[in-house]
Parts: sequence; structure tokens; C-alpha cells
Amino acid sequence: MPVKKTDKIWMNGTLVNWDDAKIHIMSHVVHYGSSWYEGIRCYETAKGSAIFRLDRHVRRLVESAKIYRTQVPYTQQQLEDAVLATVRANNLRACYIRPVVYRGYGEVGLNPLGCPVDVAIAVWEWGVYLGQNALNDGIDVCISTWNRPAPNTLPAMAKAGGNYVLSGMMKMDALQAGFGEAIALDVNGFVSEGSGENIFLIRDGVIHTPPFSSSLLPGITRQSIIQLAREAEYEVVEMNVPREMLYVADEIFFTGTAVEVTPVKSVDRVPVGDGKPGPVTRALQKAFFDVVRGGEDTRGWLRWM
Ligand code: PMP
Repeated sequence: MPVKKTDKIWMNGTLVNWDDAKIHIMSHVVHYGSSWYEGIRCYETAKGSAIFRLDRHVRRLVESAKIYRTQVPYTQQQLEDAVLATVRANNLRACYIRPVVYRGYGEVGLNPLGCPVDVAIAVWEWGVYLGQNALNDGIDVCISTWNRPAPNTLPAMAKAGGNYVLSGMMKMDALQAGFGEAIALDVNGFVSEGSGENIFLIRDGVIHTPPFSSSLLPGITRQSIIQLAREAEYEVVEMNVPREMLYVADEIFFTGTAVEVTPVKSVDRVPVGDGKPGPVTRALQKAFFDVVRGGEDTRGWLRWM
């Protein structure tokens, strides 16, 4: 997906021109994957532009860095303000927002602590991640031959750049095999998550999703969907999900900032239910889009621009 260039990128407190937003090749991050980042969406709702759950995303950014002994040199408030300033500077009504904290140019060698902690924020126009067809009809997915990292290896709760070399492997293999996305299992063989999204399944009207202990990223969309589902009086269970439960699920969907709420229509070529998005998926998609497209915010989830 080619990136749609915008005007300004925020770097360490200054808005610089897109083409000038550069770092040195000897920056620690280039060699060792020492970055922590977020993906956030600003929506053009029926009531104006708004950023979805900005506070949660900024908190996760700071916490991802903290897990790696890295203190972000800006406060939560300063980071939220910087995101707003970057969106405004680019005159975008709807966009994808990418803040990234990284270990920059300083010392050489593995120890990151002697390298500066740099921060940048880029924004650009980005439509539906897996295509409008995926949102409407669902996607075909496979179980990846790659597992998510075992507990106490790469910290799954941190959204760290280095973790995403694995997601890249999952995605490449899935696309090459003719699938739209892949689901990884955890080290014990239980379902974990997609390459960049969390997973839910419905069986007999109960919504199931794997727990944090299955090496997944604590998705902000995941948490939002759990809340919306419980408000709508669905039963939501966080439990270890055996792989075969996917083959007999009535409905499956992914959640994430990029995929929003995307139905899954088959797993390993086995149709999910009758192969069409089911009623629970549709209801939760609607509840989600009522907030981010309709601008119906009763929960303080939208930061108006
Ligand atoms: N899992 C992974 C591996 C991800 O990269 C993402 C996207 N940030 C998610 C889940 C979904 O998280 P969120 O809903 O916060 O975007």
C-alpha cells in the first residue's frame, strides 16, 4: 500500500517537512528494532473530525516503551497535544496517525541506554485496511505456520517495532498461499491473534476471545468491542481458545485500528458458519461504526478536533 505523503511530520517537538523527516543510518532502531509505536485513527464523523481513544493509545505507547526500560521524554498531555497539532498542521479530516518512539543515533552496540529517545508523529490518509469487501463480506484466513512468541521471550504486551518482523512473516506467507490474513497460535497451540489484529469468535451466542496470556497485544479496539458487547448484554468470555474451535464457530471477526471490525468468512478453507457475516458480528460492527462514523459518543471515546 503506497503511503500518501502529507505536509508535516512532528519530530522531537518540531513540525518538519515530510521529505526532511530523516534519521541517521547508525540509529540504534535501524539495527535492533528498538522502537515502540501506535496506530490511531482520526475519523470524519457525522458530527465533525474526531480521534478514537487517543488517551488509551498514548498510554499504551508510553507503556510499551516502559516495558523496554525507556522513558518517553514527553508527558501524556504533551503527546496528545502533539498528535492534535500534527493532524491540524496537515489539514486532514480523516487520517491514520503513527506516533513512534525510537532509540536514535548515539552509541554503537546492543545496549540501547546510551542512545537518545526520539519521538516522531506522522499522519496520512488511509482508507479501509483490508478493503471495503472485507468489511462487508469478510476475509479468508489461515492458521499461520508461525507461532506468537512464548511468554518471557518478546513481550507481547508491548507494541514494539521488533515484534513486527514476525507479523511480516505471517502476512507474507498468508498472502502467498492465497489468504487475506493469518491467525497465529500461542506457544501452547491456543489461538492468539492475527498479524495486526485481535480475534473474537461466537458459538451459541457467547462471544469468546483469547486472554492476554496467549501472547497477544492488548488491543484498544478489542477492549472497546468487549465493552460494547457487554453493554448490549452479550456474554463475553476471555479464555484459551483451542484451534479447532475456529472450525466450528458460528461467527469469527477481527478487531483492530486498521481492520476495525472485519468478519472472517473461512479459516483454512473451512467456512465459518454459512460463510456469511453473522448477526452478532453485524451488531457489533454497527455499534462500533455508530461511534466512529456516526460520532455518537456517550463514553468519552472521541477526541474532537
Ligand atoms: N494485535 C496486533 C499484533 C496489532 O498490531 C494490533 C494493532 N495495533 C492489534 C492487535 C489491535 O490493536 P488496536 O485495536 O489497539 O489497534
